[in-house]
Amino acid sequence: MLNTLRRLITEVSAAQNLDETLSIIVKRVKQTIHTDVCSVYLTDPLNEERVLMATDGLLPEAVGKVRLARFEGLVGLVCERAEPINLDNAPEHPRYKYFPETGEEQYSSFLGIPIINHGQTMGALVVQDRRRRRYAEEEVTLLLTLAAQLSGAIAHAQASGRMQNVGQRKRLAGGDKPFRGLAGAPGVAIGIGVVVYAGANLDAVPNRNVTDTDAEVQAFETAVTQVRAEMTQLRSELQHLPAEDRAIFDAYQLMLESDSLIKQTVQKIRRGNWAPGALRETIHEHARVFAGMEDSYLRERAQDIRDLGLRILSRLQTKETAVRTYPQQTILISEELSPSMMMEVPNSHLIAVISARGSGSSHVSILARAMGIPAVMGVDDLPTGDLNDVEIVVDGFQGNLFVRPSAALLREYKRLRKEESSLTADLVNLKDQPAVTLDGYRLPMYANTGLLADVRSSLGHGAEGVGLYRTEIPYMVRDRFPGEHEQAQVYRKVLEEFAPKPVYLRTLDIGGDKTLPYFPISEANPFLGWRGIRISLDQPDIFLVQIRAMLRAAEGLNNLNILLPMITTVEEVVEAQRLIRRVHHEMLEEQQTVLEMPRVGVMIEVPSAVYQIKQIARRCDFISIGTNDLVQYLLAVDRNNRRVAALYDCLHPAVIKAVNDVVEGAHALNKPVSICGEMASDPAAVLLLIAMGLDSLSMNAVNIPRVKWVIRNFSRDHTQRLLEEVLRMDSADLVRRHLNAALENAGLGSLIRAGK
Ligand code: PEP
Ligand code: MG
Repeated sequence: MLNTLRRLITEVSAAQNLDETLSIIVKRVKQTIHTDVCSVYLTDPLNEERVLMATDGLLPEAVGKVRLARFEGLVGLVCERAEPINLDNAPEHPRYKYFPETGEEQYSSFLGIPIINHGQTMGALVVQDRRRRRYAEEEVTLLLTLAAQLSGAIAHAQASGRMQNVGQRKRLAGGDKPFRGLAGAPGVAIGIGVVVYAGANLDAVPNRNVTDTDAEVQAFETAVTQVRAEMTQLRSELQHLPAEDRAIFDAYQLMLESDSLIKQTVQKIRRGNWAPGALRETIHEHARVFAGMEDSYLRERAQDIRDLGLRILSRLQTKETAVRTYPQQTILISEELSPSMMMEVPNSHLIAVISARGSGSSHVSILARAMGIPAVMGVDDLPTGDLNDVEIVVDGFQGNLFVRPSAALLREYKRLRKEESSLTADLVNLKDQPAVTLDGYRLPMYANTGLLADVRSSLGHGAEGVGLYRTEIPYMVRDRFPGEHEQAQVYRKVLEEFAPKPVYLRTLDIGGDKTLPYFPISEANPFLGWRGIRISLDQPDIFLVQIRAMLRAAEGLNNLNILLPMITTVEEVVEAQRLIRRVHHEMLEEQQTVLEMPRVGVMIEVPSAVYQIKQIARRCDFISIGTNDLVQYLLAVDRNNRRVAALYDCLHPAVIKAVNDVVEGAHALNKPVSICGEMASDPAAVLLLIAMGLDSLSMNAVNIPRVKWVIRNFSRDHTQRLLEEVLRMDSADLVRRHLNAALENAGLGSLIRAGK
């Protein structure tokens, strides 16, 4: 059984489009459980109808024609209940609906299994039989397992753009039904799609139209010749290996010489696809043939074909990067967008980003927010392959995107965009105004940064200091640990630029999702592993050098504050403080100059630190709450995992309570509290932070004017009433609605949706 399942999944993953995937499924299922009919019904997202998409057993003409209303018939019942329905005499069931065009009057037995992905019912897998029989438990469980796998495979194929479902075809053809994702960064953009893909991922290669097909064929043939030479070279270098190990290269050579692989790709190029797209199609076709073979040895050859495809692709890409140009209004799209892909686009050309994976807390979203451009993340059914050179509207408020929008929709979004930019211009005027509530409560605004390039522009946005300088960034861009002098130079620039305003330098916070290429850490649970202060205290050599560099950089400026990340225990605070004092003492002795002892604070990012806030606050000078990690650890939700992204919410009542407790605990000991996570720039959350009495907020500098706008339009008194109401609420959803309504009523609705 397991083998059948595995083979089916392999075959499905090599399929080129939805039709092909489904026809493989219905054929194989029918064979495996020896039944008369197997069909797949999928939900058309446009009207929620269940459409017969593939069948082996019913009349083939019925495919695409049989459509049931959302909860109509037995298929509707399966979807409604989201559980299997197993009947030995289906026609007797009150929900049975007869479709003459399928020729199904002859079938008595019916087993329907829902196909569910991320909690959404996508349709049903149905088997039928002439004989009256109840399908056995093993058959039901097999189909359940299969349907669970199948839903993932469909979603994956959709994400890689090789499939278009019913709704997708309509949405791609133009019109105003959006592709829905997660709101990664707010704003509206109208521009042209540019699909990029990670170097070594053949699946993510999009289709792209070319006119100069001769040049494309030439590029492809050159790439093949280069790979052939590479193979010959490799083979000659491996003379010492046994013949069977070298045979793999013979197989590659044979494939490279096989006319079909080359010819078919060339044909596809001649039909107008660019070489990488044509190559992807051919490799998939060939790999699928092997994947479907009974013989396990031959099946493995599918992998060789894909490997070969990758080699040719990487040769083609060398050429591609050289000629890449980006249109003025680039909307950058990828299956899995990375910050480095964004960096390749000239700053002035990049107006929005879209990624099939990721969420609002991925680094791509954080970067987009920092750059002030909209981002839509985690669009499961994003047909990346077909979005090149296409006009797209991105609504980063709602997490929607519209492909080939209608004239009316375009008009509406152009209006919203105009209002957006006039709002931004209005906000710029707030730059030199203080962040003070209507009743006089002043809340300083600091910037989060890690790039020297950002520092000056932070001042331009009205930052009154740097609330979080992520020192790992200077570590990441080197190929070894930076020395004391190198670090001191970087820190000095930041401290000098802002002096006498305060700067909070965070000690090295690697581990989790941030690794250094020259200091690899491999762990099963990196977010629960060797991270932040744990590494610093286990490797005091690294920590001491960093502290020396910080103290040296601050000489004569007196605006240095040191932040300790990922504190879980009181002992960590005590030990870190001891090391800092030691460095200070040694430097005083060495230099005989006046070196101020910096203020040292603790980041509250772990639940244990929330519960021990008083013990911690007693041992440091200030507190800074890192809500990005605090939300992740408090709610047990990985901040980078799209599947659980909907659960990641800083307005969860538990988070609100934790933040409130930290503020109260620290204030009881007269220690100031700041927030340096993304919560500080969420307009709804800001209302609560005002009420709680935070002493400063730190965020990406581009968000400062918006947050200031919120602060300047509310009285602390009003926000305190809101906090009291919210503390009685049970869910993040209710809290957000309540706070958004307050923002709307105060005339600040444009911060939470498109338009003024
Ligand atoms: C945080 O966790 O809230 C934080 C500011 O740190 P980082 O995002 O760098 O983990
Ligand atoms: Mg953190």
